[in-house]
Amino acid sequence: MTVYNFNPGPATLPSVVLEQAQAALVDWQNLGISILEVSHRSPEFKALADASVQDLRELLAIPQSYKILFLPGGGRSQFAMVPLNLLGKKNRADYLDTGIWSRIAGAEGTRYGHIHWVASNKEQPGVIPPPESWNTHPEAAYFHYVDNETIEGVEFPYIPPITSVPLVADMSSNFLSRTFPITSFGLIYAAAQKNAGPAGITVVILHESLLGKALPMTPSMFNYTLHAHAHSLYNTALTFNWFVTHLVFKWIQQQGGVAALEKINQRKSAKLYAYIDQSSLYENSVDPRYRSRMNVVFHLTAPQLEPKFLHAASDERLLGLKGHTLVGGLRASLYNALPEAGVDKLIEFMKEFERVN
Ligand SMILES: *Cc1c(COP(=O)(O)O)cnc(C)c1O
Repeated sequence: MTVYNFNPGPATLPSVVLEQAQAALVDWQNLGISILEVSHRSPEFKALADASVQDLRELLAIPQSYKILFLPGGGRSQFAMVPLNLLGKKNRADYLDTGIWSRIAGAEGTRYGHIHWVASNKEQPGVIPPPESWNTHPEAAYFHYVDNETIEGVEFPYIPPITSVPLVADMSSNFLSRTFPITSFGLIYAAAQKNAGPAGITVVILHESLLGKALPMTPSMFNYTLHAHAHSLYNTALTFNWFVTHLVFKWIQQQGGVAALEKINQRKSAKLYAYIDQSSLYENSVDPRYRSRMNVVFHLTAPQLEPKFLHAASDERLLGLKGHTLVGGLRASLYNALPEAGVDKLIEFMKEFERVN
């Protein structure tokens, strides 16, 4: 029986990518040694690094004025790197609170400067406060928000209309799921393990004008400028993770690019939400305008049945449907590599579970 993996991250990867990674674990590029054994300073690895930057530039139409970095430390390191590198002399930044990841990012920022919350959806978790209500500060060094809140399943349907200061986005859980104009942003970052590769490596795309402003206390390993000058080979890079992430870029090219996947992603989530909305057993409480296409968060109107639901789903080889421990309930993560057939099978399973319960 086909296994469908709805895990939020680490998450499903295309099977062809896993097969290519498997082969390279034994012998990469006929070098006779594993990708794990190749020097990050070798010409072969440098070619891979350059190709991955070039492929990402093409996938997202990123101009040369933006640097593309592949950094260690996951998404959470960016919660510190962003303020350390961008706060500068202003020493204050605007943060928008749309969920748990927003709050963790802002809390980390307070270690380095003044973090000003422009608005919060704490009282109304399924809604994004409208831009007219944002209390922005003219002297902010940047504006930070989370494009897709992975835990609550809340996603921006538009780019925040911030033009007077650099716009910074955490795109960890929807990166490469749709096209967007990078030129609206000063910086975006994405931990790879949701939609772009294995855990540990993080893609950072930033405008070159933001380099050279790190606070003096910034650890070298957290300095964007050092990483940019070294083409992300400042320290021993996460060679294997980088390699697999590049394989995912190649896979996206073969699927017709990000725009082609965007259409499928739209269809996948729309059919699952449509089924949930007409059902009396399942419920999603996010305002339809802000529903995530990547993480469909739902619960049972009879919550005592949730363990039984998860058990029966796993018998059908539908894995990873448990909601985040902080919010409970259920969650189906529908990243690029989760095929539409997996969503169809999940809906069939949910129908049958509803019928017999
Ligand atoms: C997963 C996630 C993170 C954290 O990534 P780590 O690699 O675990 O540090 C940050 N932001 C968002 C939106 C996420 O989904």
